[in-house]
Amino acid sequence: MPIFKRRSISQLGKKKDNVPEGLWKKCPSCSEMVDEITLKQRHRVCHKCDYHFTLSAPERIEMLCDPDTFEEIDANLETVNTLGFKDYLEKVKGYQKKTGLKEAVVTGRCEIAGAPTAIGIMDFRFLASSMGSVAGEKITRAIEMATAERRGLVLVCASGGARMHEGILSLMQMAKTSGALARHADAGLPYITVLTHPTTGGVTASFATLGDVIVAEPKCMIGFAGPRVVKETTHQDLPPGFQTAEFLKEHGLVDMILDRSNMRDTLGFLLNFMLKGSNKKAA
Ligand SMILES: [Zn+2]
Repeated sequence: MPIFKRRSISQLGKKKDNVPEGLWKKCPSCSEMVDEITLKQRHRVCHKCDYHFTLSAPERIEMLCDPDTFEEIDANLETVNTLGFKDYLEKVKGYQKKTGLKEAVVTGRCEIAGAPTAIGIMDFRFLASSMGSVAGEKITRAIEMATAERRGLVLVCASGGARMHEGILSLMQMAKTSGALARHADAGLPYITVLTHPTTGGVTASFATLGDVIVAEPKCMIGFAGPRVVKETTHQDLPPGFQTAEFLKEHGLVDMILDRSNMRDTLGFLLNFMLKGSNKKAA
């Protein structure tokens, strides 16, 4: 009896991983092979298990903003290496080339179901969408524009946390964005955060969790430190589902979990509803 089972000729070449690069994606959750066209039609959600693949900033804009209404602001703000961190700018340039973005955040004006909105989208492909001084500045400017032009505000969050290459300058963005949000709230204007996989660190501890309405995508991971760090620090076993969107909704930290297919309609409804109220008060 042979020790190793020989693959029959009929099996050769049938391995699903052999499909041409770029046309098919293997779902990391259920291992189903999904073709790019189906993925695109479903906003990159697996048709079998509802796994949400990462969306780029341009894909988010297409998904959330009314067609042809997005107008980018501060597109040319670029990072400088204030602290002289070794190889930092080379790394940033590499990500710029890879993603076609100048920084980890894209901001601008748009309409969502007709509601005038300022939007900021974090793109996880760019250095894990870590928040450095440029990302923080772009978000702050988007918030201030929303306040000045009496727009609703939507920030789509995804982040590995503050950008370590910029040290304390990264952490300062937490206070800066939170201050701008307080002034936006004082003006009676709505702010919605959309938390996506993963939202962690300084972003969670500042603007990501300050929304009037906090929306999350299904099964996404939301936390400050990762589960391994929490477990090692507290020496306790973590409850099942710890730091998932569903767990946080159950514990009151997330207001609603939305599928990508109805994200635009729901955000638009909320923005229109809240803007109507705030503009009535302002009048
Ligand atoms: Zn799947």
